[in-house]
Amino acid sequence: MGESSRVIPIAEQRHRALTPRIPLDARAPSGHLVDALGRPLRDLRISVTDRCNFRCSYCMPKEVFDRDYAFLPQSSLLSFEEITRLARVFAQQGVRKIRLTGGEPTLRKHLEVLVGMLAELRSADGQPLDLTLTTNGSLLARKARALADAGLQRITVSLDALDDAVFQRMNDVGFPVADVLAGIDAALDAGLAPVKVNMVVKRGTNEHEIVPMARYFRERYGNAVVLRFIEYMDVGESNGWRMDHVLPSRQVVERVARDVHALEAVDGQAKGETAERWRYADGRGEIGVISSVTQAFCGDCNRARLSTEGKLYLCLFATQGHDLRHLLREAQASDVQIAAALAEIWAQRSDRYSALRSAGVATASTERKVEMHYIGG
Ligand code: SAM
Repeated sequence: MGESSRVIPIAEQRHRALTPRIPLDARAPSGHLVDALGRPLRDLRISVTDRCNFRCSYCMPKEVFDRDYAFLPQSSLLSFEEITRLARVFAQQGVRKIRLTGGEPTLRKHLEVLVGMLAELRSADGQPLDLTLTTNGSLLARKARALADAGLQRITVSLDALDDAVFQRMNDVGFPVADVLAGIDAALDAGLAPVKVNMVVKRGTNEHEIVPMARYFRERYGNAVVLRFIEYMDVGESNGWRMDHVLPSRQVVERVARDVHALEAVDGQAKGETAERWRYADGRGEIGVISSVTQAFCGDCNRARLSTEGKLYLCLFATQGHDLRHLLREAQASDVQIAAALAEIWAQRSDRYSALRSAGVATASTERKVEMHYIGG
């Protein structure tokens, strides 16, 4: 064997993955998969790129994701046809909601074409899928209309502060708040209301922005924008996470109720929903809190994540995935065979990282957790 054939590019080797087994008696999809803890499969998050134009210190810190960082080569990315084919199989197996994410998904060229292809898919009971996108908003002013026209139904925009100095320090590329706000306006104009805005709260970094953010979105948009506060999580291995960086959601709700307006809990939330919802007592808008650290919601987690190169992850904190791209490219599996392989993988799923972390059960592993920019949020 020549030297060159033994060299495997780092990006290809970075993420270990299991090769899925194709069951011999592959049966047609049932549309009702249940994992080892009784949780159904309902929600699929698809990462369409591992690249991002921001370098948020809590997600893709500059020191790690620098000029020399090896992002995935183009040839390893799933094509739009491959993504759509897998998404169709997931829908046949019970998925009702698809969220496109990344990296920064709007950096993927012609994303609206993929949105158009996914908008054609139907769930196992014949309904259109709930099709949504998470973005940093940087390109939204230009792209919102085309995405909505292609069939995107909803959008979530990440924004961690209203104060330019704080925001620019957090995104670490000097990106201005005003351009993200213009993106939110463009999304509303394109009919993507209500727009969700996600703010990751990092204690000591942007907690003083909680009240200004809540005031701004309530006063300017009322019910058209829902601001959600996310507890800073220990995803990946690059962000130097510490528990004392986490501001518990309970304190966020207390601050907003005290300094912005009285809040009341919204009852009857759907199972598997990540955010706990609170509405302003005068009916002028609502906020949400996503308490993945202080109140783990693993018990209802119905989400699967597909990486940019077609690896299936069963948990945001997973250390390895299942290589579905292998089924498409090397194994040349049929849709029924892929559906059967997926059924087998889901049946064995028992991940509940956050619940174990909360319970103080040792989750330390010698294996590296997958990075957020690679499987998406
Ligand atoms: N680039 C897109 C964006 O900015 O929304 C999509 C990908 S980004 C990884 C998805 C979401 O994850 C963003 O709202 C981001 O703020 C959030 N996120 C990233 N790292 C996080 C962490 N350590 N804890 C909590 N949320 C995090």
